[in-house]
Amino acid sequence: MRQPLIAGNWKMNGTRSSAEALIKGVLEGAEKLGKAEIAICPPFPFLEAGERLVANSSVRLGGQNVCTEASGAYTGEVSAAMLAEFGCSYVICGHSERREYYGETDAIVAKKLAIVVENGMKPILCVGETLDQREQGKTQEVIAQQIDAVIAQNGIASFAELEIAYEPIWAIGTGKTATPEQAQEVHDFIRQRIAGQDQAIGAKVRILYGGSMKPGNASDLLSQPDIDGGLIGGAALAAEDFLAICRAG
Ligand code: PGA
Repeated sequence: MRQPLIAGNWKMNGTRSSAEALIKGVLEGAEKLGKAEIAICPPFPFLEAGERLVANSSVRLGGQNVCTEASGAYTGEVSAAMLAEFGCSYVICGHSERREYYGETDAIVAKKLAIVVENGMKPILCVGETLDQREQGKTQEVIAQQIDAVIAQNGIASFAELEIAYEPIWAIGTGKTATPEQAQEVHDFIRQRIAGQDQAIGAKVRILYGGSMKPGNASDLLSQPDIDGGLIGGAALAAEDFLAICRAG
């Protein structure tokens, strides 16, 4: 009932020519794949090439971040309207790297989610715990706080308009993947948390897994009942790997 979404988060990687080659590589394979919806999120300067190349394909484009404000004197920022104008369908919001290195709080993330929806795109809300928090048995507490902050600020109805990505911070870029059981447990917890407020929205919201997902572990993760796709970092930088994950979806 929930179509899987596989989204590539390229982070701050690539050159103009490598980005174009990667987009073309994904496009070549993507049309032959069936079930999963596919999105790529290149760095901002490559969005124009992305828009041009993915036009008339089923591959969607996404931004990796967005400004909380609509326009004006915010040097260095990129607005939601700009991302929409360059053909983005998705925007990653509150990635753990942004929360950790750029001080994004739950309140800032909630504002980003709202402005993305106002501009006709779908946010991908990232949540996840650190290794320390997991070892202290605080995983559910941390995830609940990240989800509840959005419910408090934007309302439960806002979850009908977004995607969630559960990304345990200890698994991002480390080669250490959560086991399918560990991931499923948290995905189920997130869904129940939302369903507790609105049953229909809880059943419908897509929850992606992110953190060292690769061709070798994708099908085990994606076969879990509450894992509805993946947010892929490192493995999204090679078209064959990314497409192999899309195939597993
Ligand atoms: P990774 O990154 O696949 O390289 O672990 C995932 C992410 O940070 O979105």
